[in-house]
Amino acid sequence: MENFEIIEKDLLSHARNAQLRVKRGTIRTPIFMPVATQASVKALSQEDIAKIGAQCLLSNTYHLYLRPGLETLKVFGGLNGFMNHPGPILTDSGGFQVYSLSKLRKITENGVHFNSHIDGSSHFFTPEKVIDYQRIIDSDIWTCLDVCVANPASYSQAKEALKKTLIWAQRAKKRYHEINKSMENSQKSLLFGIIQGSIFPDLRKEAAIAAAQEDFDGFAIGGLSVGESKEQMFEALAAVMENLPKNKPVYFMGLGTPEDIWRCVEMGVDMFDCVLPTRNARNGQALTSEGKIYIKNARYKKDENPLDPLCDCETCKKYSRAYLSHLYKSGELLSHRLLSIHNLRFLLRQTEIMKEAISEGKFTQARKKFMERYMC
Ligand SMILES: [Zn+2]
Repeated sequence: MENFEIIEKDLLSHARNAQLRVKRGTIRTPIFMPVATQASVKALSQEDIAKIGAQCLLSNTYHLYLRPGLETLKVFGGLNGFMNHPGPILTDSGGFQVYSLSKLRKITENGVHFNSHIDGSSHFFTPEKVIDYQRIIDSDIWTCLDVCVANPASYSQAKEALKKTLIWAQRAKKRYHEINKSMENSQKSLLFGIIQGSIFPDLRKEAAIAAAQEDFDGFAIGGLSVGESKEQMFEALAAVMENLPKNKPVYFMGLGTPEDIWRCVEMGVDMFDCVLPTRNARNGQALTSEGKIYIKNARYKKDENPLDPLCDCETCKKYSRAYLSHLYKSGELLSHRLLSIHNLRFLLRQTEIMKEAISEGKFTQARKKFMERYMC
């Protein structure tokens, strides 16, 4: 049985409702995955995570490897046991973090040498090792180690990084099959290939065609939403989407604004993650169906309304804007938790609205309705 099954397709766009079977359950896409980089969705307990309706979390091999370390995770049988999280988890390989966080890094044919951003200690990741690490983490979906480039990158830098990413993907897949050959299908983690190519449509196309030939369980699009213009981002994304098989899940790494998620789902993307909903919450910014609001704004000082009257989260059910504004301005930690719950629930609810709209064949109208209200 295939792991990914398309249930319904929108008539006028590429949006689709699908289900992705992983070893800890069935994920119904489109989805947004809250980020638990360091084995924690910042400020939220497991009860909070369950209540907002998160189907899958995202964590990170680079961070978990450095802290708490794989030996600690082994004691708990992996990340789920350590966090006491029962549901599916996808792990990013850490290529982006090696690139963006470590001060010293050197990429060779075989892998990448880097120094920990925490204590400066030296480490060496290879595509094979990163598969082995994800086996210890025991996440439901693994990703291949990739080579990231700066934005902007020159064409030749992006081409070189892409070439290496593709070779490393083959090595990661080989290691993945060695590990899994004696395992029953229901116990296997899935492996996603990563598509690079910076902002260059022809490199993106090349990356998508090459990844498609590797027969991964799904595809993760990396290296976009990193500072390029929206026009460049969507042009590169279009080049990828036109060249990926339609029967596999597609995950846009690190994209988390509601308007972009709506547009990407319309183009056929199924999965998203981003730190912004929780990071913005800690900066007092809330997503609402009528756009972003800054809770410290004087106009909310005596406002008895919830953050978003259309929201069904615990924060909106129980607390006023005035109280949330007071908590934030007083530096109370509770404001981080309550705003994070709301922002994550807001995005998860958007994906639920999308699923309904796809089911009714009205995705384009639903997106228009969202945009009119949100961007007003
Ligand atoms: Zn809410």
